[in-house]
Amino acid sequence: MIPIAKPYLTEAEAQAAYDTILTGWITQGPKVAAFEEAFAAYTGAKHAVAVSNCTTALHLAMIVAGVSEGDEVICPSMSYIATANAIRYVGAHPVFAEIDPVTYNLDVKDTEKRITSRTRAILLVHQIGLPADIDAFQQLAQKHGLVLIEDAACAAGSAYKGGRIGSHSSLVCFSFHPRKVISTGDGGMITTDNPAYAQRLKLLRQHGMSVNDRVRHESAKIIFEEHLELGYNYRMTDIQAAVGICQLQRLDAIVEERRKIAYRYHEALADIPGIRLPLEPEGYFSNYQSYSVRLLDDCAIPRNELMQQLLDEGISSRRGIMTSHRERAYLPAYADVSLPVSEVASDNSIILPLYVPMKEEDIEKVIAVFRRLLLPA
Ligand SMILES: *Cc1c(COP(=O)(O)O)cnc(C)c1O
Repeated sequence: MIPIAKPYLTEAEAQAAYDTILTGWITQGPKVAAFEEAFAAYTGAKHAVAVSNCTTALHLAMIVAGVSEGDEVICPSMSYIATANAIRYVGAHPVFAEIDPVTYNLDVKDTEKRITSRTRAILLVHQIGLPADIDAFQQLAQKHGLVLIEDAACAAGSAYKGGRIGSHSSLVCFSFHPRKVISTGDGGMITTDNPAYAQRLKLLRQHGMSVNDRVRHESAKIIFEEHLELGYNYRMTDIQAAVGICQLQRLDAIVEERRKIAYRYHEALADIPGIRLPLEPEGYFSNYQSYSVRLLDDCAIPRNELMQQLLDEGISSRRGIMTSHRERAYLPAYADVSLPVSEVASDNSIILPLYVPMKEEDIEKVIAVFRRLLLPA
């Protein structure tokens, strides 16, 4: 069976976890600090704050952005559901905007139409690793006095107009779940250029504690911590961070390999009628976290049937990105919401296997079976 995705973990990661365990310091300590420093340097952001996953990163980003009860935050419905959930965690209301039918990223014009006096922020998603038009959204946010937060869960290693994702906005949230391009098991990171944000994020992730364990441990004088505000336990462990440091060193090489496989698919599938392959506009650099193919009206076979036939041939696939407003957790509050572009795109997309290292014969098998199913003799 060819899987849909696979984390690229080696002896180096296993050794790093092993070594960390034997140091006796296993949660948020020196390895987390080193991973943060390396991640900030990699992205070009001034600060990076590690947390337990991207969902908790988004939750803390909402808090430091000042989003609270009754506020509205505009985001795509077509995203993993954690995007919208993070808005609800602070009592705010997700307002779903449409996506661009070609890039699947948030549509700037439709977003502007949905701004009201209660809108506080825009949560911009870089869909499966393809950056959204950050400049356009920064301008929009500025014009209306809104905070721009980036959900870059899938976008580690992607770049926009020459700058790596993480370097553009004041709150950018990443995921290291195994389904993403690099993984720490679970894990997340927030990059920011704002020192006050960084400081508050570090407080919030550790129970609102004024002194972290490491400072207390290294102090020659006794210190008593204070708890300054309602905080959370959103720590990353040092075991995860040690793995993350290894993964980050390999990130560019992984992205390069992913892009090579994506180009193989582009070339081999380009002549099939009734489908649209992913594209990368000028100035946008995708890490190809997923390779999603859009099935058009004249496609030879319906999406679910295609998925089943691929599975019968030993090839895993996934449906395209979900829409949040049609999930039970959002119905009935969103029963009146209609987002035709997102709905049609979600229902008619299929994600193909792409991981590193992917065996040559497996790449060829995916191509051959996909072609056979979509080009009936
Ligand atoms: C994966 C994902 C998340 C959640 O990340 P976790 O680290 O699993 O919490 C959030 N947003 C998007 C767009 C994602 O793809």
